[in-house]
Amino acid sequence: MRKHNIKDDPCYCNQNIDYVACCETLYEFLNDCKVGLKYDRANRMISILIARNMGRQGIYNCPWCGFKLPPILSDERDDILERDFGVENYMDKDQLAKIPAEFLTDEWWKKRGL
Ligand SMILES: [Zn+2]
Ligand SMILES: [Zn+2]
Repeated sequence: MRKHNIKDDPCYCNQNIDYVACCETLYEFLNDCKVGLKYDRANRMISILIARNMGRQGIYNCPWCGFKLPPILSDERDDILERDFGVENYMDKDQLAKIPAEFLTDEWWKKRGL
């Protein structure tokens, strides 16, 4: 696995070391911060970074082996947060503070069997 040691840059090497990937290539790339791929546990979304801090696009199949990835859960997450916790504006600090900790990780969807 490649690593980088740039002191002032945030480094996400090995951040997904416990991710069970469909193939070795996806696993290696998810754990290499120089590759613009990110796994967002809370939304179960693997995304391609469009440009630094400019946005990202979720992907539905592994780019290397074609495996169909588990469905992205961002709509379900948004719905539950709005319905059960009144969170509808992610720019509002007071509302963000109302998000239960389980929704910041993969705990909420594992618990619900999604
Ligand atoms: Zn790194
Ligand atoms: Zn794959």
